[in-house]
Amino acid sequence: MNAIITGAGIAGPAMAIALKRLGMGVTLYEAREDNEMGGGVFLGLTPNGLNILKAFIDTGLLRNHYTAGTMEFYNARNKCIGRLDTRDQARKYGAETIQVKRARVGELLRQEAAREGIDIRYGHRLRCLRERAGGVEASFDNGHSHAAAFLIACDGIHSACRSALFPEAQKPVYTQQISTGAMMRLNGPQLPFGAIKMTFGQRGFFACAASNQGEVWWFSNFHREKEPDKNEIHAALQKEIKAQLLEIHQNDPAHIPEIIRQTGEMFAYPVYEMPLLPRWHSRRVCLIGDAAHATAPHTGQGASLALEDVIVLSQCLNSSPNTAEAFARFQQARKPRVEKIVKQARKVGSAKSKPNPIATFFRDLMLRHFIRFEKKKMDWVYRYQPDGMEIPGN
Ligand SMILES: Cc1cc2nc3c(=O)[nH]c(=O)nc-3n(C[C@H](O)[C@H](O)[C@H](O)COP(=O)(O)OP(=O)(O)OC[C@H]3O[C@@H](n4cnc5c(N)ncnc54)[C@H](O)[C@@H]3O)c2cc1C
Repeated sequence: MNAIITGAGIAGPAMAIALKRLGMGVTLYEAREDNEMGGGVFLGLTPNGLNILKAFIDTGLLRNHYTAGTMEFYNARNKCIGRLDTRDQARKYGAETIQVKRARVGELLRQEAAREGIDIRYGHRLRCLRERAGGVEASFDNGHSHAAAFLIACDGIHSACRSALFPEAQKPVYTQQISTGAMMRLNGPQLPFGAIKMTFGQRGFFACAASNQGEVWWFSNFHREKEPDKNEIHAALQKEIKAQLLEIHQNDPAHIPEIIRQTGEMFAYPVYEMPLLPRWHSRRVCLIGDAAHATAPHTGQGASLALEDVIVLSQCLNSSPNTAEAFARFQQARKPRVEKIVKQARKVGSAKSKPNPIATFFRDLMLRHFIRFEKKKMDWVYRYQPDGMEIPGN
């Protein structure tokens, strides 16, 4: 069977490798050009995602440049009010949460896909798709078209495949939050390596960590009513964000305004809430990763969930008589878990963005208990093993 995959972010190349290992022919189409694949800053990879990633790449390579996953929580007076230690995860789950450059994960996966002989076509933006008896035909902006037995859509939160398949589905909704941050060198006193310093400041939340190469990686949420358009992100918006963050954090611990002041180029990644889709597939087309169920970045599960999808879908395709049954089984297996995590991420996001004095008092008081509870709460997420998990290549 031949397959088309659209999107070569994280799910796409992993899915391509998994299908190739099942003996299928695959062509991977990516909208961006090869030299434009560097977007995004860093993201969290938790044990559930890392354990799957091991089947595709040498995850040790990610440790060339990373920050630790352990979190230390501080209040606006720079008092440590709790610590969520991830160092026991390697023993418990076989991998420990890290933050890595998003582009590096995709790059390693695409390198592996190319090594395994997968045809990756950059500069091909899917425009429409047509299902017909026995297959599906995809057409691209550059005039190219391609017919195959089935198509796996890994084209991210603004998926063109999703719009083609479910034109009536609600579009992702801008949450009035922009996830912003940077990777930079800091002049003057350095942050210690080993933990992400999460500060609940007087008027907003700020997180920063030292990488093992001596950079500072920071992120924060920025409230903005109007959804930015692409051009704004790289020009006026940067100035607006910096000025506002400086104002919001002016009375917070000194390292925060100092980091913001020294920051040059920032990233600004509008956060969308994607309405839950009742269906992820048709007979010949299946959405996975952000295309099916984008989650807010607050619990760092976007990439890990996309990787879980890859394994479960490849198992379903391997053990079903046809794609329609494989896709239905995939959706049934994945939906409850994914939707629970998506809802959890939304709650975390609103806790980070709305400080108020009473809630702050109780938060400081309760955080230690909360962390213990949080560790338990995330246990089922991190412990994940797809049923009878056999990861191709492991
Ligand atoms: C540029 C960018 C930056 C990001 N930065 C961060 C970040 O800093 N922190 C974080 O937590 N999460 C970030 N994310 C989201 C995170 O990467 C995803 O949650 C996670 O990677 C899920 O993987 P995915 O493969 O489903 O989607 P993605 O990684 O988003 O990959 C989708 C791919 O599809 C391609 N594509 C889109 N439309 C089409 C089309 N019509 N035809 C063909 N290809 C198409 C895109 O160019 C992209 O390469 C970012 C996503 C993007 C696209």
